[in-house]
Amino acid sequence: MRINVHDYYSEAEWKLFRSEADKLETPCLLVNLNIVERKYAELKEYFPFAKIYFAVKANPATEILELLRALGACFDIASIYELDKVLSLGISPDRLSFGNTIKKAKDIKYAYDKGVRLFATDSEADIKNLAKYAPNSKVFFRILTEGGETAEWPLSRKFGCHPDMAIDLVMLAAELGLEPYGISFHVGSQQRDIGAWDSAIAKVRYIFDYLETQNIKLKMINMGGGFPAKYISRINEMEVYSDEITRYLNEDFGDELPEIILEPGRSLVAEAGVLVTEVVLISEKSSVGLDKWVYLDAGKFNGFAETWEESIKYPLYCEGRGDLTNNFIIAGPTCDSQDVMYEQYRNPLPSYLKAGDRVYWLTTGAYTASYCSVEFNGFPPLKVKIIK
Ligand SMILES: *Cc1c(COP(=O)(O)O)cnc(C)c1O
Repeated sequence: MRINVHDYYSEAEWKLFRSEADKLETPCLLVNLNIVERKYAELKEYFPFAKIYFAVKANPATEILELLRALGACFDIASIYELDKVLSLGISPDRLSFGNTIKKAKDIKYAYDKGVRLFATDSEADIKNLAKYAPNSKVFFRILTEGGETAEWPLSRKFGCHPDMAIDLVMLAAELGLEPYGISFHVGSQQRDIGAWDSAIAKVRYIFDYLETQNIKLKMINMGGGFPAKYISRINEMEVYSDEITRYLNEDFGDELPEIILEPGRSLVAEAGVLVTEVVLISEKSSVGLDKWVYLDAGKFNGFAETWEESIKYPLYCEGRGDLTNNFIIAGPTCDSQDVMYEQYRNPLPSYLKAGDRVYWLTTGAYTASYCSVEFNGFPPLKVKIIK
């Protein structure tokens, strides 16, 4: 079926994207700040009890950070470079968490010296570094979760530890003078199975209970990101996520919830972006081949990293009427054979498509610009234009 842009954007939003796109060379990512603002308001409305830490890595554009700063958000940073960026915008360090469990000792010290006092961890070695270079800081412990099969961009295997190990780490952190503050998890990005939060929250309950017998009272649950954006696959509305997740929390923790943190990335910014590309070339590989190759001026290395293994299926839109075909394989412009976005997944495109035509990639505000190469094959980084 042809993509209908109005399933994704209002008439006015699409008109604005189109008129801005007309002024620009491709490839270019347009990000509409009003949509980010709306998504933030929506999340606040659905999770009124939660503190929101924006996962900066999803889209670190200055204007987005400034908007969220003004709206009162907190920020989850993955490195000292993101730290420097948010600090340079006047965001105070008490609104930050260092959410990456993988960090150098000297980077811990750097963050501590800049005033960061909230850190994620999942290993003994990291806790020892934290105790030494970020003494007395609040620490939260990331646990492994299930849900890798139902997340379109799974995260959990690399990060987190078994709940029993988390308990040992909490006790170690307490012994070393840190403040064991809470438990965190991330059920996997673009998580379609809301039940993934249920089993994760149950694990957190178990850890809280056990530690109470050891006279350690944790105060916080960090439920990570994982909330979806609207791509091709059907997803539940945020309201359903909120109803279900709130119910799981109340079932396990009653009405008096601990402090709840959310770390949305994708769900706040993805739908705000449209990545505008142009067809460079269309070719066939043999005179009897059924498929045609469409090479665009942006590929896996210029913003579409998340098409890796065809994980994220972006809606592609072309203008004009006429017959549609599924015969197109979509690839990028570089001299790299991995630079193919979709071979299995077929997004219907007009059969008359030709070099110079534009292809609009919808829902591309997250993990695109921040994820592309600097000059692979000489192509410059993706240009980003903020609009509102
Ligand atoms: C990437 C990341 C997020 C954001 O996840 P989304 O699925 O994009 O919302 C949140 N927390 C941590 C620790 C992350 O690494």
